[in-house]
Amino acid sequence: MNQHVVPTYRERDKASVLHPQTNLLKHLETGPTVITHGDGVYVTDDAGNRYLDSGAGLWCAALGYQNERVARVAHDAMTQLAYFPIFRHQSHGPAIDLSEKLLEIAPVPMSKVLLQCSGSEANDSAVKIVWYYWHGLGKPERRKIITRTGSYHGSTCVTISMTGNPAYHKSFGLPFDGFIHVDSLNYYRSAKPGETEEQFSQRLADSLEATILREGPETVAAFWADPVQGNAGALPPPKGYFEKIQAVLKKYDILFVADEVICGFGRTGEMWGSQVYDLKPDLLVCAKGLSAALLPISALLINEKIFRVMTEESNRIGAFVHGFTYAGHPVACAVALEVLKIYEEMDIVSRVKSLEPAFLGMLDSLKDHPLVGDATGVGLIGGLEIVADKATRKSFGPEVNISGLIEKHARKAGIILRITPGRIAYSPPLIITEDEIAEMGRLTRMALDGAWADVQ
Ligand code: PLP
Repeated sequence: MNQHVVPTYRERDKASVLHPQTNLLKHLETGPTVITHGDGVYVTDDAGNRYLDSGAGLWCAALGYQNERVARVAHDAMTQLAYFPIFRHQSHGPAIDLSEKLLEIAPVPMSKVLLQCSGSEANDSAVKIVWYYWHGLGKPERRKIITRTGSYHGSTCVTISMTGNPAYHKSFGLPFDGFIHVDSLNYYRSAKPGETEEQFSQRLADSLEATILREGPETVAAFWADPVQGNAGALPPPKGYFEKIQAVLKKYDILFVADEVICGFGRTGEMWGSQVYDLKPDLLVCAKGLSAALLPISALLINEKIFRVMTEESNRIGAFVHGFTYAGHPVACAVALEVLKIYEEMDIVSRVKSLEPAFLGMLDSLKDHPLVGDATGVGLIGGLEIVADKATRKSFGPEVNISGLIEKHARKAGIILRITPGRIAYSPPLIITEDEIAEMGRLTRMALDGAWADVQ
């Protein structure tokens, strides 16, 4: 008898898919978790296991994992105009409507919108625009970009050079020269004994100023920051941080770029993280929540000061020679517009504000766990500091693989946790309910208990 064995998804995946952010050798042994469908804040795998996704995928699935209403909008947009580029003086309604909407809701007056497909593309384009601006002003030597240790700004060669995490640079021969990383803003880990948050922030601002002076202010183009630092484990800034940092930038005429890729669209309990911390960026980058990840799209907003110089420069050299084929894709624009309409109808900002006490309370309630040293957050983004010893705040060594242990027990408990070295980061879908937040806390405790038992 001819027995035809149909290979499983797991086998077919191992034979065909190259996975980002994955140990490729281990993957050949273990294979993937294959997710087959989602409902609300939950996803289910092909073995029928259901997980509460505490991270909204990659900080992005703000409306959860199904959306009939937006699907209909995408269908209509695709049957009207499935694609057309906005290069070379061409445009279409969805790109115009979305750009107008973004300018209307921007946290500070902005002048124009460059539509892109991902956070990396938008940050990468922002670097080019910053350089173009300084060229336009006759100061091409202003090229250096300053970012913070612990930051993540994308995976292109330039945006990963901006990223302040050496793990992302290994074996790529990166970062490029001219990308400078200043101190981590983790108060719990980096403050000196007895130092207040304000004093810590002042020390960081002084250190930024010293770096600028060492590099030469006339060589520094821009400073980049995400309002809550996602990659460092959803880390809010210490008190007074942005006020002091922005004063330094102003003093040396350095452009400020807000990376709102994670924080934009209600995540922090305001429409923008910039509003929570009173940021006054010259450029603003957003993605993720812009379409709630229902289609890939991002945007870069620039202020009038930048636009005026770009206009002159593009005329001088012939054009603003930059662009991606799918930038301003009409279907993605229509989807983003509908998502923004849904946020308005849900009053997303009030919703997140009203859930904030339950969310922060859930994080705080885990501080009694022997593995949890501290909990910080704002809106629906925050994290837990994982420590080996609460008294000394000592971390586990890499040989313990505490992240792997917590993750293993989290999956068993039925929750997807994002574990960065030293921190568990939370950014659940914004449609989460109070009951589901409580469930998130209960399942996290099960995962922590499992990991704690393993390290005893
Ligand atoms: N900036 C921040 C703050 C991010 O967290 C990310 C992705 O996680 C990016 C930029 C890059 O976005 P993308 O993955 O869409 O390229």
